[in-house]
Amino acid sequence: MGKLFNEDMVNYGTNRSSIRELFEFGKKRALEVGADKVYDYSLGNPNVPAPESVRKSLERIVAIPDTTLVHGYTSAPGDLRVRNAVANNIKTRFGVDISADYIYMTCGAAASLCISLRALNTDNNEFIILAPFFPEYKVFTLSAGGTPVVVPYSEPDFGPDFDKLEKAITKNTKAIIVNSPNNPSGAVFSEDTIKKIVAILNKKSKEYGNPIYIIADEPYREIVYGDVKVPYIMNYYDNTVVCYSYSKSLSLPGERIGYVAVSPKAEGANELYAAVCGAGRAMGYVCAPSIWQNVIMDCVNDLPNVKAYEENRNLLYNSLTDMGYTCVRPDGAFYLFIKTPEPDARAFSNRAKNYGLLLVPGDDFGAKGYVRAAYCVSNDMIKRSLPAFKELIDSYK
Ligand code: PLP
Repeated sequence: MGKLFNEDMVNYGTNRSSIRELFEFGKKRALEVGADKVYDYSLGNPNVPAPESVRKSLERIVAIPDTTLVHGYTSAPGDLRVRNAVANNIKTRFGVDISADYIYMTCGAAASLCISLRALNTDNNEFIILAPFFPEYKVFTLSAGGTPVVVPYSEPDFGPDFDKLEKAITKNTKAIIVNSPNNPSGAVFSEDTIKKIVAILNKKSKEYGNPIYIIADEPYREIVYGDVKVPYIMNYYDNTVVCYSYSKSLSLPGERIGYVAVSPKAEGANELYAAVCGAGRAMGYVCAPSIWQNVIMDCVNDLPNVKAYEENRNLLYNSLTDMGYTCVRPDGAFYLFIKTPEPDARAFSNRAKNYGLLLVPGDDFGAKGYVRAAYCVSNDMIKRSLPAFKELIDSYK
């Protein structure tokens, strides 16, 4: 008898990501030693509550007497009123002339990425992933039939290594995934960095005679500190597809709501949008949750409480560097990338567990010798965890 099941899928389902592994370990450990002795920095689950406007919007929606408007199917790409609201938001904030005809509502950035990759891949194309990266990029690319090509980062700023990026592009390259603000490093790509990436893509597109697209994965767009700016990539590069999610900005990760926005100026924009709709259809990602589409219509212009994350960033970054840790100072997102005092980040992460600290090894993100701490946790937990961090680094002395 041949194989019963798809081997890759069995593999993805059996071997959990190290983030999930630690998260599950933390829950088990909390039962054994008490939740107050587990400092869970594993998962990017925002602790900042969703804005009050979200609760008000939910109340408004569930009170609508015509329940088909609340719970019914919407159009496959999303309710037109919702897509209009999203398009207007992009137009107002970033000055991009876009309409609902280029917006596809999804179940979060994960679905947006799977749809975009599937829509763009023609024939086992290569997709460039800049390290350090969200580990699911590899899974999503492979399952869309593409080949992931990882390009290393440059230190200390954790931007792309431009020479290596240029060398990695071949005639088979279809797109590059750009994730800024970045998970796991917290780096935000400056305008200069975006311009350099764009210059390389323009040069290589011309050389090979094929468009190379940017897939801008932007769930952390609004989470930036001080006067840091996140350039809107459509304004710098026409061949752009934005994968957005409200998981982080509105603290709604469990609700699964986001969108794909295709730049109207992209080469073959209308056909690309049709392919996005087709990929959504082919994967069964149609008609994103109706209640949450409606909430987005009401709350599309609302912003997260960045102050809470910034306080956490300052407390954790300043405390750890004072103790002797070397960390990448994050300008955005809610992750701190910590250099490990021994080269093997997995060994360090295992040792940290003995002190109740759950820190994700950077290996899975394509960066060896680092661990990631998700500081979207309570400020109190950070304070309580500091003695454990101190004992941990002292154990190396
Ligand atoms: N992209 C990045 C960089 C992420 O960090 C995440 C989630 O943590 C996602 C995509 C997936 O987001 P969503 O929960 O909206 O599917």
